[in-house]
Amino acid sequence: MEVSKCSESIQPTATVTGDREKEIDGRLGNCEVCDAEVSKYTCPRCEVKTCSLSCVKIHKFELECSGIRDRTAFKSMKKFSNLDLLSDYRFLEDIARTTLKYRKDINKRYTRFNTALPVQLFKLKRAAYSRGVRLLYLPQNFSKHRENSTYFEWKSNKFYWRIEWTFFTDSGIKKIVDERVLDTEKLGKVISQHLDPKIRDPELEPYYSAGFNGVVLLLKCEKADDKFFELDACSSVRANFRNKTIIEYPSIRVVLKHRKDEYELIDPDDERESQSFGNKDDVNQNEIEIIENDCDSSSVIVIS
Ligand SMILES: [Zn+2]
Ligand SMILES: [Zn+2]
Repeated sequence: MEVSKCSESIQPTATVTGDREKEIDGRLGNCEVCDAEVSKYTCPRCEVKTCSLSCVKIHKFELECSGIRDRTAFKSMKKFSNLDLLSDYRFLEDIARTTLKYRKDINKRYTRFNTALPVQLFKLKRAAYSRGVRLLYLPQNFSKHRENSTYFEWKSNKFYWRIEWTFFTDSGIKKIVDERVLDTEKLGKVISQHLDPKIRDPELEPYYSAGFNGVVLLLKCEKADDKFFELDACSSVRANFRNKTIIEYPSIRVVLKHRKDEYELIDPDDERESQSFGNKDDVNQNEIEIIENDCDSSSVIVIS
């Protein structure tokens, strides 16, 4: 039997010579890619027989095969050998090593899935709920969670929101944050502090000239991508957030009135329906998980 021409450029994994090699070659049959040479290699993943590196590459490309053995592939008991047992054992060891690694990694350890919320977060969530707001938390290590200064003063029953105002300027996005806004304040009063021309921020010049009456305040709907609620500047913060879902803290877009058309707004009539608690229609799977997990005291992971 003829020895493969490819053997000059690529060595067989087992160093066998002479008759023994020929015997192995013969056992594998012809190359399943070129069918011209005797095959020398078996793909660990799909068991395709090949004769050379170039045929291996063609095979991987054509069958989109990674060439890496699938350690979880089904193996019948008849074919199960000691090597498979060893492989399974190593596989389990690998898993144990990986889980240990993640457990030590402070950033990956916390998901707070199915565990109790810290008391203060639970109270905050409940206080928000009693004000008609569905407040959701992100995992501990998300910066949006860490920087959230939203606060509930239990003794006086006062609720303070962290509010982030987003302005679109010529040079990009400008964010201004109010760390604690009492929710009984009028929304318009809070934003007008930032629209005072005395502040003299050159980036916000168009907003100063538009003034309080020249802007609209939009809150992104967390349940519908790219849709916004138009907020009422004459109402309190509390009234504006009622029946809304807020992840960590509200981020309100301050938009010049003539650019309002660029946003898809939610009809005020649909507002209540789309945001009412427990309505599981027209929301995607992730959001359903949010709602379902929200019934207990645990927080949820929000996949965005
Ligand atoms: Zn070949
Ligand atoms: Zn393969």
